[in-house]
Amino acid sequence: MDQKNDMKDRQEAKKRTIELVDRWHKQAEKIKKKHPSWSEEKVQNKMKKIIRRQVQQDIRIKDFSVKEMFEKRKKILVYRQEALDKTLNYIFSKNPDAIGAAIFELDCGCMRICGVAKTGEPAGDMIMVLGNPKNEKTGIQECEKCNLDGGADPDRCVNKAMVWPGAESEMPSKDVRLAIGKKVFGEKYSINDI
Ligand SMILES: [Zn+2]
Repeated sequence: MDQKNDMKDRQEAKKRTIELVDRWHKQAEKIKKKHPSWSEEKVQNKMKKIIRRQVQQDIRIKDFSVKEMFEKRKKILVYRQEALDKTLNYIFSKNPDAIGAAIFELDCGCMRICGVAKTGEPAGDMIMVLGNPKNEKTGIQECEKCNLDGGADPDRCVNKAMVWPGAESEMPSKDVRLAIGKKVFGEKYSINDI
């Protein structure tokens, strides 16, 4: 096998691994929701069984340490939450007109975030937040997919949401939030989304 193919193969395996770990996280959350009385250990044991079953179906996954993957995943999720909080703080402090912010989450984990005025118009610029922390080895932070398309491909958007700063009592009324959401995301935005 030539080098290029080998690399492509490894990238493919890495991508599938990330998808699997994502799925496991979701499964673990589901189990916790379904059995709120279960201890963490019981949930872990159940997950181990599920993972073992899935790992047997996917031979490539054996090359990776499950624990390492979970740790890595956790780090990424913590990083994303912090990056999101920082960006929202920045948006709300720089744009007094912004009463909410629209978040577009992309399939690569990056997010595009923009302040929204009470008219539903953008308040300030769209900010791109990279979904992964700096590469520990290279010290470089980048996203291959977003390097190519600038993160602007609507087909890559996997999640859209409005966020409102402050406590619930400080939020605009439901009607206002719904009207703003519709203006930003279109008529499909419903009362369940706010
Ligand atoms: Zn990206």
